[in-house]
Amino acid sequence: MTDDSIDLETQADAVREAVRAADDRIADKKASLTELDSAIGDADHGANMTRGFGKATEQLEETDDHPADVVKTTGVALVSAVGGASGPLYGGSLMKASQELEDGLTPETTVAFAERYLETVESRGKASLGDKTMVDALTPAVHTYKKSIEVDGCAPLEALGKAVDAARRGVEFTTPLRAKKGRASYLGWRSVGHQDPGATSTLILLEELLAVATEHLDGEVDVDAEAEVDPEELETSVADDPEATGEDVSTSDDLPADGGD
Ligand code: ADP
Ligand code: MG
Repeated sequence: MTDDSIDLETQADAVREAVRAADDRIADKKASLTELDSAIGDADHGANMTRGFGKATEQLEETDDHPADVVKTTGVALVSAVGGASGPLYGGSLMKASQELEDGLTPETTVAFAERYLETVESRGKASLGDKTMVDALTPAVHTYKKSIEVDGCAPLEALGKAVDAARRGVEFTTPLRAKKGRASYLGWRSVGHQDPGATSTLILLEELLAVATEHLDGEVDVDAEAEVDPEELETSVADDPEATGEDVSTSDDLPADGGD
């Protein structure tokens, strides 16, 4: 119990740090977010995001020592401080998804958080992949994070790195699209050729999350990976199942299949 609460306290601190880092980076990028939104919107995305994260940062001191509460409070701040479409989408989805972090930050809870966040953005904004919105950065990021953890067995930090790369490709993918949702959709075909502001801010936030996670988790990755592999269990499984070794050798997906001729 004591260990758990110390752990949650540390996690809450890490999330606070991520919110502060996001605030700084969004402030740095305010002008470019504004520029993107002036091309296909109403030129307020930089101001909206800066105001929202400024408010979120101010409220960090009020938060409980639990990561779920820090995330929820950040969501509330974004909803209350941002008037545009992005405020309720970012903020409301953070509030909802924070429920998945009640047991703290683990690979499982962070996957559940990411999925719930995406689901909430989609259900509130009614946008789908390809509509030229933040969903286009978020969807590949969330799918990649989930697959990296659940299928590939990556550590969370590595999974997050892959998710950020996927989000970056998603942002690039918004440029040639015609907007179907939000203000940019009013422009019809004239929205083609411009990068979506909300997808861009989503990527910025994910990049900051990765930077903070790297500070906290880099170096722990190897320790965790080692801790997960019990050498005794490994020896037993190899000894008991010689075919497992054979399977490893013959699993050469990269080799051209020659049909055994
Ligand atoms: P507003 O469009 O109200 O001025 P912002 O400029 O702050 O709000 O945010 C614009 C961004 O919000 C868009 O670039 C897009 O990514 C995102 N967005 C707008 N509408 C939707 C929607 N229905 N679903 C998902 N994202 C949306
Ligand atoms: Mg706008």
